[in-house]
Amino acid sequence: MKLVETVSELQSEISQAKALGKTVVFVPTMGALHEGHLSLIEEGNQIQDAFVVLSIFVNPTQFGKGEDFDRYPRTLESDIKALAALTNPPALLFVPSVEEVYPAGSAAEPKPRAGALGTVFEGVARPGHFEGMLQVVSWFFEVVKPQVAVFGAKDAQQLFLIKRMVHREFNDSIEIIEAMTVREDDYLAKSSRNRFLSKEGRSFAPTLFSTLMQVQGSISEGEKPSVALAEASSALDSPPLAKLDYLALVDKSTFSPISDGFHGEVQLLVAVVVESVRLIDNITFYIQEPA
Ligand code: AMP
Repeated sequence: MKLVETVSELQSEISQAKALGKTVVFVPTMGALHEGHLSLIEEGNQIQDAFVVLSIFVNPTQFGKGEDFDRYPRTLESDIKALAALTNPPALLFVPSVEEVYPAGSAAEPKPRAGALGTVFEGVARPGHFEGMLQVVSWFFEVVKPQVAVFGAKDAQQLFLIKRMVHREFNDSIEIIEAMTVREDDYLAKSSRNRFLSKEGRSFAPTLFSTLMQVQGSISEGEKPSVALAEASSALDSPPLAKLDYLALVDKSTFSPISDGFHGEVQLLVAVVVESVRLIDNITFYIQEPA
């Protein structure tokens, strides 16, 4: 695994790999790597002749005022150790500086891409987050020019918006792979932010996934989605420890909230603020047409 910090070093490595017939597979992260991130690399390495490029960049433009940009964990040394210990590490680790990504103020105004979807669910609590995220992912796509990119299913709204951007702006030239959410033994989705939970917060946190499973179970037994959601919500709202932000069902193909009577593939989304830590999770399932 080679570490590069500049676009010119990155592109010279990538053109050598392409000349050898490699497939460039891109895995963007903000570092503080855990097994969820490592599973994306593993997924990428399964592609024939893969040349996996992993980026670590804590993108300032996707953090709002008062969000955790300053305290977001930066653990490059231990990240490098974890990567080097893999049987199949990425071929290239790209760790650009903020100046490399945004020379002289180019971060000022991200191009609006998220539209209405940038203002719902995660976008309500995090205004501008998705514009900043799409800005940096599009920058990476432009400089890496991957044939394939791997993202985690854990960030459902992010993934939906990235797929839409690839369709609208990249002519579907990048294959997007959706990797399954990796979980702790008690099914809490792994996240770089879990380390900030107190003992009490950590023992509450698996309630997110158990509630998702409960809602799915009750819908599959014939309960109306609206009733299943309302019944489950109280388990997630436990002030002062935990405050439910949203628990919602969307049509997976449009990311629009569904009405009772909908059938098809849905995503059940949840966000809860536990202490000051924002936790999100989701599951995908199918609502059958009533017999
Ligand atoms: P982040 O570093 O949090 O920006 O995440 C980088 C990538 O890792 C994104 O595609 C995330 O969806 C993905 N990711 C984060 N947590 C997990 C997880 N627990 N399982 C699988 N992928 C994850």
